[in-house]
Amino acid sequence: MQKLLLFTLFLLLIFGFRLIDRFQKWNIHENDPYLWIKLCDRSTLFQDNTLPKEDPLTSRTDISIAEAMQTIVDDYNSLYGSYLRLELYPADTNAPAEGSTFTVDRAKKRTIDICDSDLFMAGGQASWEYEGEKIVGCTIRYQKGAMNDVHAFLSVLTHEIGHCVGLHHPQESIHAIMSYFANRELYRLQIDDKMGVRYLYPQTLEGIDHKEHNSMGMSCHYRAYE
Ligand SMILES: [Zn+2]
Repeated sequence: MQKLLLFTLFLLLIFGFRLIDRFQKWNIHENDPYLWIKLCDRSTLFQDNTLPKEDPLTSRTDISIAEAMQTIVDDYNSLYGSYLRLELYPADTNAPAEGSTFTVDRAKKRTIDICDSDLFMAGGQASWEYEGEKIVGCTIRYQKGAMNDVHAFLSVLTHEIGHCVGLHHPQESIHAIMSYFANRELYRLQIDDKMGVRYLYPQTLEGIDHKEHNSMGMSCHYRAYE
């Protein structure tokens, strides 16, 4: 019995705790990293804007859903060390944005579908579609009316898109918009969220492999400099 416990502990030390959990992610690659975000409603303007004054969108009264969503997309796309790239699904599928690799065929099994809903929910909810181990679709519904304020929209949609790309609720509450207990003031990705995305979609930067090698805080890489 004692041997079994020691052996289990040995395995945990070698492989880390994360192998126990199975993290699902999309079937995307570093050289083909795109997911598309399809909005039911692109054009409705937000009635309220309680974004803090340091935000570039502060005091604006003409922010559309598509514009707010683009800032979420930019936030996800600017993560250092993550290859994941989000793009808005074009309003006209025959005229995607310049430089986009979008085609209707390419976006199949790579689309996050977002609509408002009359159903009551705590802000929003996300549900995945799988093929085997891979995510091949994700649907977000957010509560109509609860999103009159662009701040609430950014906060809820950043969280729900986090679920769509494969993040769950962490214990961390201060540094994670993904937390169940996150401060309502948060409306952009926080450090814990960013580390999660980077863990799932690690980019190779200048030959450096950013995949996490879990050592449970005990670095196996430390060596005295000679
Ligand atoms: Zn959640």
